[in-house]
Amino acid sequence: MAYEIVERLIPFSSGNRPGTPLVPREITSHRTGNPTADAMAHYRYFSRPLTPRRPASAHYFVDSGTILRIIPENERAYHAGPRANAIAIGIELCENRRPGTPGFLEAYRRYVWLHADICRRYGFDPRTRIRPHAYWDPRNRPDDPVGLINWQQFLRDVAKELGAM
Ligand SMILES: [Zn+2]
Repeated sequence: MAYEIVERLIPFSSGNRPGTPLVPREITSHRTGNPTADAMAHYRYFSRPLTPRRPASAHYFVDSGTILRIIPENERAYHAGPRANAIAIGIELCENRRPGTPGFLEAYRRYVWLHADICRRYGFDPRTRIRPHAYWDPRNRPDDPVGLINWQQFLRDVAKELGAM
């Protein structure tokens, strides 16, 4: 099943979209850690300068009804530190639906599909081109997103989706 990608780009004036070119070489997977915010809420949040001033963003926010792109794939986002940001597309799984609920499953399906879609478009092998945020920042983000989803199962789900495309 294919999903629609909705694009609502945040402005450069937000400070969260540097406009620096990106040639994607892998994907970094995230959880938002915010139980009250859906994809559009994150668009609104990152559309304005953050306080205290510290840039943050990701390319995609995925919730139970929407796959939302807020930064183009050919521009860098601020999602996992400079080394990751220079090579990776950042994808956030929204947590406004609790694990175990139908809404969470809907969001998870879209999250899996988006990873598979990007792997298909760039020729990425999911086993080597998808890393959790925890890989880049194990001290500060040890459960991102691996505390929310079963990582090995997730990679299998992406590979299965990719195989069906
Ligand atoms: Zn993260």
